[in-house]
Amino acid sequence: MTNIAFIGLGNMGGPMAENLIKAGHNLTVYDLNKDVVAKAVQAGAKKADSAIAALTNAKVIISMLPNGSIVKSLYTGKNGLINHISKDVLVIDSSTIAADDARHVATACKLKGINMVDAPVSGGTAAAIAGTLTFICGGEVEAFEKAKPILDAMGKNIFHAGASGAGQVAKICNNMLLAVHMIGTAEALNMGTRQGLDAGVLSEIMKASSGNNWSLQVYNPYPDVMPNVPSSNDYQGGFMTNLMSKDLGLAQELASKSHSPIPLGAAAGQLYELHKYNGQGTKDFSSILQMLQEKS
Ligand code: NAD
Repeated sequence: MTNIAFIGLGNMGGPMAENLIKAGHNLTVYDLNKDVVAKAVQAGAKKADSAIAALTNAKVIISMLPNGSIVKSLYTGKNGLINHISKDVLVIDSSTIAADDARHVATACKLKGINMVDAPVSGGTAAAIAGTLTFICGGEVEAFEKAKPILDAMGKNIFHAGASGAGQVAKICNNMLLAVHMIGTAEALNMGTRQGLDAGVLSEIMKASSGNNWSLQVYNPYPDVMPNVPSSNDYQGGFMTNLMSKDLGLAQELASKSHSPIPLGAAAGQLYELHKYNGQGTKDFSSILQMLQEKS
């Protein structure tokens, strides 16, 4: 049983924190949104009035925040957390951020003798709730070994990708591929249904054929083909278009830095940018199907 400070209780952080509580850990939580804090308190967490206050007695800090500037400001900004963390505390950041931002925080931590692991996740909200996330970690082996038993309470597959930032590089590669196959799946389903096919029947055929992929298997973008996915709930919850758009921006940065051509990743980035521009930023990213559909 470990005392954990958990910061960021959104679509992902909320259920992750609940799984840590179920595993017997003591959680002190902080989020700007009072509603999500109240939900965590109901699940057994202790509420803190600031991120700094959440650190009292904590041996591990976990953050699950929207983007790199928020993460950097939390840890290394003015009066950032690293000025309040003792050396025996392990920092785990599970947000998806630029590898350079993760390295910036890890280096600042290291200068103070603090261990940090970047541990972005894959699997979406369903896996966050079920405790079956994939964690993709970057950092020193010793820090990874310390983080692993904590991550085990929230995930099924825990990978060590390499040094600080490596978790974020692997995560961005994965999410660029996810965006590409989600858009491809939406295009195929839209074309097939416009030819009179049933979306469920077409999905079963493609799942048993060479077009099979994760979007078809567990996150079908066509409404009412699958229960309990955002497309069957007016694209609410899940993984926001705004966040996918951010990840594709990170992919573009990585591609430029490593001189790697990503023609499909770049096209996916433009499509999600357009979808966001059309006012769909807070809908789940599978709502990209609606952009392809004829407006009545
Ligand atoms: P979210 O917007 O639902 O949650 C973010 C939470 O952080 C919110 O509750 C917000 O109030 C809180 N917050 C923002 N700034 C804060 C601050 N300064 N201090 C304290 N709390 C603050 O986002 P999410 O979907 O939970 O995603 C979180 C991270 O996980 C993102 O980096 C995202 O890219 C990544 N991710 C999301 C999914 C998904 O399916 N939703 C999957 C994998 C990875």
